[in-house]
Amino acid sequence: MIVSVSIDEEGQVALTSAIVRPSVEAWAALPRRAHVRREGTFAWLIGVLTTAGAFIVDRGWETLDDPAWAGAYRAIDMFGMASILLALSFSVVGFLLRRYALVAAPLVLLAAAIPHTLDGYASAVVWWLGAAAAALWAVSAAARPWHQLRAVCRLAQASLTGRTTAVGPNAVRAGNRALRRGLLRLPLFLAAACGGWALAFGVLPTELGHTYEELGEASSSSFFAAAGTAASIVAIAEAVSQVWRTYAYGRVGRSLVWEIPSGRGVASWCPYARNDAGQVPMEAAEAPGCNCLAEFRRAFPDGENDLMWNEGVPAADYCPIHGLDRINELTPTEFTALAEETWLWDAGSDLPEPADPDARRLLLYGLAGHTFAGIPVRKHGGRIDADFPGVTPVREADPAIFGPWWDKPLRPEAGAQDIIDLRPAGYTGSAFRYRHGRAWFETAPPFAARPEP
Ligand SMILES: [Zn+2]
Repeated sequence: MIVSVSIDEEGQVALTSAIVRPSVEAWAALPRRAHVRREGTFAWLIGVLTTAGAFIVDRGWETLDDPAWAGAYRAIDMFGMASILLALSFSVVGFLLRRYALVAAPLVLLAAAIPHTLDGYASAVVWWLGAAAAALWAVSAAARPWHQLRAVCRLAQASLTGRTTAVGPNAVRAGNRALRRGLLRLPLFLAAACGGWALAFGVLPTELGHTYEELGEASSSSFFAAAGTAASIVAIAEAVSQVWRTYAYGRVGRSLVWEIPSGRGVASWCPYARNDAGQVPMEAAEAPGCNCLAEFRRAFPDGENDLMWNEGVPAADYCPIHGLDRINELTPTEFTALAEETWLWDAGSDLPEPADPDARRLLLYGLAGHTFAGIPVRKHGGRIDADFPGVTPVREADPAIFGPWWDKPLRPEAGAQDIIDLRPAGYTGSAFRYRHGRAWFETAPPFAARPEP
């Protein structure tokens, strides 16, 4: 997997990446994402049980009405009270942290174990046991992404096609941008941590040596210390996650372009998978006899700026080549042979989907497993590139649950001319032709249900 860097004619840095094309079976066998939510929830439960256990061992109910500290306020009181505050907050909202809870749970419990040990509490042993259990759980959970990254590396090695392609600047920028976004959060958390600790140690000298009554039955330094510890822990969790993403992306992502089968898998849902239905590709629109471009300019005199010259124009209803009459005059055999043409289909319709998952491949740049599922790219001239630099990475999702958040339009109920079954030609459904509109594709029931393979 050799990466070479070159400067293209526009002076932009272009990478040359190897193309990998896994088989449908090998792609389906790649380990799926572990249950992140379940892992985080279990870490949170360890925190809750440890906090409850410590309360029982210290017989906390007997001292509920006692002052929060006895005698003069000491620095260890600040750490002890901050750790209790933190453990209680984690017990209440820790499940919201999801995978961060894996890193946060052992640190929260460790932050309680140290002051409780130094101050001779009976609960110290409970805090230590809880911290150890949470740490073990975090290590066992961390092994999974590690195995998955190795599986992705092995699959890449086994699926090398020997072909290479230039990767355009939008794709490179989109990859770096996705990584950088996480790196920007880190200084924010660090600043919050520093602010919390600065306030805690700034207030501490004014509170040291005072009794509970003298300080008005509250200590500000312990609140600030709790906030500082919480922000430090989140910063550590964020750093761990960023280091891992950067490592995985550098190890396998940056140098490869994947041709992956459509359907479920590590990268199954593409927010920017574009539907070109109803469009005429620019080369076809510039051919003699087609008036789609002229129609577009007539209808939108100021629309020239909206035209993407590497994409297409909307097909015109009266174009002799791409118009409605042309579509409806095709015999079913002719129509089926042209089924891949985008101009046959209404802009609200899906394009016909091949029944064989091997037939249509999605192009991804930078796939590094679950931690970074890659940037969706397409062929642009002689290279592959993302549509724009802000494209977000794809993510693993069950399309049945997380599919597009908008409701798909339904095909019109009236005005149908005929139905052409495209299944014998290898698609998942039928075409509905309309007397006064473009055709609609509808997936047939056996495919529409999409049972888990
Ligand atoms: Zn045309």
